[in-house]
Amino acid sequence: MAGIYLHIPFCKKKCHYCDFHFSTRLNDRKEMIVALCQELVLAREDFIEESIKTLYFGGGTPSLLSAHELNIILKTIYKNYSISSEAEITLEANPDDLSIEKLKDFYALGIRRLSIGVQSFFDEDLYFMNRSHTALEALGSIERAQNVGFLNISMDLIYGSPTTTDRMWLKNLDIALKTGVSHISSYALTIEPKTILFNRIRLRKAPIIQEETQARQYELLVEYLEHAGFIHYEVSNFGRKGCFSRHNTSYWKGLPYLGIGPSAHSFDGFKKRRWNVRNNRLYIDSIGDGLIPSRKEQLSLADRYNEYLLRGLRTLWGVNILEIKRNCGQRYHDYLCKEAKNFIQQDILKRRKMQFLLSKKYWFYADGITSDLFFTQKTIDNDK
Ligand code: SF4
Repeated sequence: MAGIYLHIPFCKKKCHYCDFHFSTRLNDRKEMIVALCQELVLAREDFIEESIKTLYFGGGTPSLLSAHELNIILKTIYKNYSISSEAEITLEANPDDLSIEKLKDFYALGIRRLSIGVQSFFDEDLYFMNRSHTALEALGSIERAQNVGFLNISMDLIYGSPTTTDRMWLKNLDIALKTGVSHISSYALTIEPKTILFNRIRLRKAPIIQEETQARQYELLVEYLEHAGFIHYEVSNFGRKGCFSRHNTSYWKGLPYLGIGPSAHSFDGFKKRRWNVRNNRLYIDSIGDGLIPSRKEQLSLADRYNEYLLRGLRTLWGVNILEIKRNCGQRYHDYLCKEAKNFIQQDILKRRKMQFLLSKKYWFYADGITSDLFFTQKTIDNDK
């Protein structure tokens, strides 16, 4: 199963915590649409045989685009790729873009899944994060989307902001459930280098973020949503039965995807990866010259093993040791079986036949724990 990710690198304003690639200079927009379509044509040879099962407009803020602009991109995709008739088409959207007219236009284009960046139902949180919408606008956008006919709506929520008390967080979850959305993605507010939030904390203009608060609010999140019948299928993702994100699930399962647009990544599902330049002007100019401005990398066996673990142990499906043997060889299979013993004894990992799974109570620390199972240079040196 293959997917196409389209990175729409524009936003109205800069959220203080964000380190994604985007620009608030919207006047390159027309040229960008042309460039995205050109890249779709240039990149098609690698995916020509594949049936595309998911299309994902991410960013940035794809909902800033008009239906006409999205239609130009979609037409180029349908002309150059084989798109399954049941393809999941997702659009990330900010609440303040979702007027009833725009929602109707998006629906008419065949978009059936919206991922709405709500983040919080409290204006003080939204103000702290410098979001472009209010809590009321967020609620209104979900209601309008449902009235237009969108049944598959995901909501993004952020926990662990210094402005969010536990009581507010529970209220957020309560409101989220009452909206009736079928999917929730929830992330801790993280402090990424070079962001405005990072600098504000460094200059003591914003309070520091407490990991204990984040861990506690994560626990509340899991408890609350599971109790309400959501399936916790990835560290940060919860869905009603049949409503998991198909696009992101393919990514976690290591399936191939094509990334289009500045900063977008592509993966062949095996060992080749490339990522585009993170600069709108350089991207547009290079594509205009017929060249995709990307860097490529061939993954080593150790990279493939480490990444498989990093993606798989974040999910309900875990990792399969036979797959490790098939893709990385006996040495990696044996290495995981040996290293996992300690973790199993401590109930951090569970073994179910050929699967290794991270125990649910450790999901908040998934990346750190997984890195203890990595195959590194030190491992190689110790083997000698
Ligand atoms: S809208 Fe999204 S991509 Fe844009 S700045 Fe905010 S978090 Fe980042």
